Amino acid sequence: MKIIVLVKHVPDAQLDRHLSDEDNTTDRADSILSELDEYALEAALQLIEARGGAKAGNQVIALSMGPAGAVNAIKKSLQIGATEGVHLRDDALAGSDAAATSLALAAAVRHLGADSPVDLVLTGMASTDGETSLVPAQLAERLDLPQVTFASELDVDGGRVIARRDSDTHYDTIEATLPAVVSVTDQINEPRFPNFKGIIAAKRKTITTLTLADIGVDPAQVGKAGSWTEVKTAAARPPRTAGTIITDEGDAGIQLVDFLAAQKLL
Ligand SMILES: Cc1cc2nc3c(=O)[nH]c(=O)nc-3n(C[C@H](O)[C@H](O)[C@H](O)COP(=O)(O)OP(=O)(O)OC[C@H]3O[C@@H](n4cnc5c(N)ncnc54)[C@H](O)[C@@H]3O)c2cc1C
Repeated sequence: MKIIVLVKHVPDAQLDRHLSDEDNTTDRADSILSELDEYALEAALQLIEARGGAKAGNQVIALSMGPAGAVNAIKKSLQIGATEGVHLRDDALAGSDAAATSLALAAAVRHLGADSPVDLVLTGMASTDGETSLVPAQLAERLDLPQVTFASELDVDGGRVIARRDSDTHYDTIEATLPAVVSVTDQINEPRFPNFKGIIAAKRKTITTLTLADIGVDPAQVGKAGSWTEVKTAAARPPRTAGTIITDEGDAGIQLVDFLAAQKLL
């Protein structure tokens, strides 16, 4: 199998995240591999391990679009077990919205499928910064491939992918012919951690850098210029207020009801 896993380099949610004052794009200084993409990576590794792994010629390609630092998301993916990495990097991509991102990633997937066909594209259910969940569906549309989103279980049988998608009231079993685009949820598996052997092995794995010219994309179609959306203004979130503290002198219940009533929550 040849699986491409989309991995995004995102600001660490544990740290203070902010937009750059200059142009309201995300300040990606302290960034990491998006945690939700680790589930997609784990799903890909389990699929190829069930088919003999890399030794049997199976591939898990970690593809990331982003500035220089995004290579760290790829390196982490290689340490976890991806067989090779691809970094789509071009200054003209800066400020790309979801539509522009999916256009560029679709061209990169086509480029990677030129030598041998891609069987499956796996993604996280959302990035942990933009959180739009738009890219997987847009990517499938641009590649004219079937899409299955929010899979909580996944298997491949012959030329089909079979997935489970949960909702509040029931679950669906969805089948699609390969190649397909599938986004997976954080319920699908327990991502593995890079081990010492994996960290050493990653040093010998290939990371290819692609520019827009390499994948045949006109810079005017991506970045701020090619984006369908624009962040007009951005303001820092107001600092959290201390909140109301209720001291129970036997009437805490009444105080709480009064508070909720005052907030028109009752
Ligand atoms: C706070 C904030 C709000 C935003 N709001 C919008 C908006 O409303 N509309 C809009 O069009 N854009 C928006 N953006 C921009 C958007 O985040 C970027 O365009 C981004 O590259 C794609 O969208 P996403 O992060 O929401 O991806 P999702 O669609 O949430 O990502 C789903 C999956 O796609 C893959 N993926 C996404 N981006 C990449 C990448 N660069 N490289 C590799 N894989 C990737 C990952 O597997 C990821 O798990 C916003 C950005 C921020 C920081």
